[in-house]
Amino acid sequence: LASRDFHPDDTIIEVKGVKIGGEHLAIMGGPCAVESPEQIDEIAKLVKASGAQILRGGAFKPRTGPYSFQGIGVEGLKMMAEAGERHGLLTITEVMTPEYVDVCAEYADILQVGTRNMQNFDLLRKLGTCGRPVLLKRGFSATYDEFLNAAEYILAGGNRDVMLCERGIRTFETYTRNTLDLSAIPVLQGLSHLPVISDPSHGTGRRELVEPMAKASVAAGANGLIIEMHTDPDNSMTGDGVQSLFPDQFDNLLRDLEKLAPLV
Ligand code: PEP
Ligand code: MN
Repeated sequence: LASRDFHPDDTIIEVKGVKIGGEHLAIMGGPCAVESPEQIDEIAKLVKASGAQILRGGAFKPRTGPYSFQGIGVEGLKMMAEAGERHGLLTITEVMTPEYVDVCAEYADILQVGTRNMQNFDLLRKLGTCGRPVLLKRGFSATYDEFLNAAEYILAGGNRDVMLCERGIRTFETYTRNTLDLSAIPVLQGLSHLPVISDPSHGTGRRELVEPMAKASVAAGANGLIIEMHTDPDNSMTGDGVQSLFPDQFDNLLRDLEKLAPLV
């Protein structure tokens, strides 16, 4: 079902009037984690003012160590839903387990599967019937074939609204957090009809690389970008402040991007 052979035309996913896929660029911006009502509201305001359509933010965080901040949970979902509503933005949030799919689907417009869960097949099956579009991140060591097979689990369950997200893979290089695989964008678009989104934040792990890799992703044909932005990145509650753009950088980037492709 993910293959172009099955579905020759590009899939365009429509979420409350916002079309993801095709010629327009979908921009998802926001913090790594929802931290407080004030934080998410302030960031939502800035994301909207810059011309993006979708607010990102994690309420459930898949942290490498069990003692790190794990996200604020359902309260965070509610805070983000309110901020999205107030500022006229769609919302996207990560869901980590099948048990939380329903509550995440209740509060968010789009559900995100993180890189660490790309092959959590019980989660993928559950997302097949969740009634929300899904942004599936590529596992950091997954081949294209494994990635498309993971998408297939969601599609096979009856959910045809799946976006593929390249977020960097693990290589021998350590200067960057991951290596953003730009080839993935045209390769996946050739093999599949599903929209392809690039994540230059996790793909590089370094703020100064987000802008060039965002532009490179759009030049390579990406249908959208998911970008971390924070009003106070140095004090963010996850380690991802180092890769988060400041609001003015986010705004400048969008001004440049809209010269390359119209924003949705
Ligand atoms: C995130 O989007 O904050 C995140 C945890 O992403 P990934 O699963 O790509 O590491
Ligand atoms: Mn993050």
